[in-house]
Amino acid sequence: MDLRSMYRGKLPSQITVKSGTLITPSARQYLQETGTTLVVQQEAKDETQFKDRVVTGNEPNGFRQVGKIKLAVSGRHVHLSKKDVEALFGKGYELTKRSELSQFGQYSAEETVVLAGPKGIIIGVRVLGPERSQTQVEISRTDGYRLGINPPERDSGDLSVTPGITLIGPRGSVDLEEGVIIPLRHIHMTPEDARRMGLKDRDKVQVRVSGPRSLVFDEVLVRVNEDYNLEMHIDTDEANAASLQTGMEGTIWVTEEKSHG
Ligand SMILES: [Zn+2]
Repeated sequence: MDLRSMYRGKLPSQITVKSGTLITPSARQYLQETGTTLVVQQEAKDETQFKDRVVTGNEPNGFRQVGKIKLAVSGRHVHLSKKDVEALFGKGYELTKRSELSQFGQYSAEETVVLAGPKGIIIGVRVLGPERSQTQVEISRTDGYRLGINPPERDSGDLSVTPGITLIGPRGSVDLEEGVIIPLRHIHMTPEDARRMGLKDRDKVQVRVSGPRSLVFDEVLVRVNEDYNLEMHIDTDEANAASLQTGMEGTIWVTEEKSHG
C-alpha cells in the first residue's frame, strides 16, 4: 500500500492492517520516522485458510513440495511368529483373517492378545497377519508409559536391543525377551511413485498437515516396494498430536538438494 498517498499529511497515531497485507520496507521506515504504530489484525482462521497456507508454492527455506500423501493411523498391534501363535492360541492354530490391510498381503486378524508390562496391562491388542519369523509388538509412547516400558522408535523388523513384554492369549502366554518398538513414521510407495517424486528407498522427507493443529512431520522414512500402496503410516500419538484420522491428506516436502537428486 502507498501510505504517503493514503494518509497525505495527516497520519494517525495508529494504523491497523489485515494480516497478510504487504508492507514495504520503505513504508515501514516511514511509519517509524513518523512515530506511527502499526497493528496487524489477525483474522479468524478457518480450515480453508490453513489449507492454502500449507499446500501452495515453494518456500524460501529450501523445501519443495513433491506430492500429496494419504494418511493412515496404525493402532497398537502385534505380529506373531508361528511358534508364538501356537503358544498363545493352541497347537496347530491358524490365524483368522478379519480384513485386508492396504499393504499387499497384510491382514488384520480376528485374534487379539493382552500385553502385560511391569506397570500395567492393555487388553484387546490386535494381531496382524501373516505370521513373521520373529514376534514384533508395535505400541505408542503413551502405551509404553501405561505398560512401564521404554521402547525405541524403530523401522519394522529392526528389533535388536529392544525391550520385551509378556503376551497373554486364551491358551497360554509368551515372555518376549525383545521385540517391542514404537514404529518410525513412514511412507509406503511403489518404485513408480518414488520416480515421480524423485525419491528412493530409505530417504527421509517432511510431511505437512493442515488444520488447527497443523504440523510438520520431519524425519519421515520412505519405503519403496512393488507391493506397496502409496500411504503414510503414523501411530496414535502422532495422529492425536495433529488431530488426524485415517483418510486425511498431507503434502510431501523435500529439500532442494534432494529434489534434484
Ligand atoms: Zn506401514
